[in-house]
Amino acid sequence: MAATILIVEDEPAIQELVACNLELAGHRTLRAESAEQAMRMVRDELPDLIVLDWMLPGVNGIEFARRLRTDKRTQSVPLIMLTARAEEQDKLTGLETGADDYITKPFSPRELNARVKALLRRRSPQATDDVIEVSGLRLDPASHRVTGNGTSLQLGPTEFRLLHFFMTHAERVYTRVQLLDQVWGDHVFVEERTVDVHIRRLRKALEPSGHDKLIQTVRSSGYRFSLN
Ligand code: CA
Repeated sequence: MAATILIVEDEPAIQELVACNLELAGHRTLRAESAEQAMRMVRDELPDLIVLDWMLPGVNGIEFARRLRTDKRTQSVPLIMLTARAEEQDKLTGLETGADDYITKPFSPRELNARVKALLRRRSPQATDDVIEVSGLRLDPASHRVTGNGTSLQLGPTEFRLLHFFMTHAERVYTRVQLLDQVWGDHVFVEERTVDVHIRRLRKALEPSGHDKLIQTVRSSGYRFSLN
């Protein structure tokens, strides 16, 4: 699962270590050295996950976490707290503030990667069974049914997963490699043009209700599910 991860850490060496490891694991990273800088970055782009240091100059990690959780746009961003403190009480404070997980320094890069991966899995909306409806297109993960304006649409299993991913990640552009990671769970052994084949099939399946237009090709980038 490749994600965009914001790292908020004021110590350059640790920031570098965390960023390099997450990049090696295939993620894209954004870096901030203060909560103030991170807030500006989050306004521009909502990351898929935030790794947040507890002890920051100015607004500290706990306060930043609180602000994230009180803002509707950012309240469900997965959050991992990073701290040198190992006391149980601090851990509880971090979790009460809304952190999803907690890592104590020093930590192994492997542990960090494993926690990031687990949290992304746990919080990925396409992994849930919630019915999603967008502009007359309705997808029910539990019964594997898709309807367009009330009419049943026939989708193959891959097209179903692809549509489920798109509907839970609307208005964002995904490259073929990202789609392979997210939908196939593999970008090493599956060819990129496989994505194009299934996009074609998906559009064909959505044609009867006119929802094929929601699957947009973004030139030289990839694909996007968009209402605009
Ligand atoms: Ca620090």
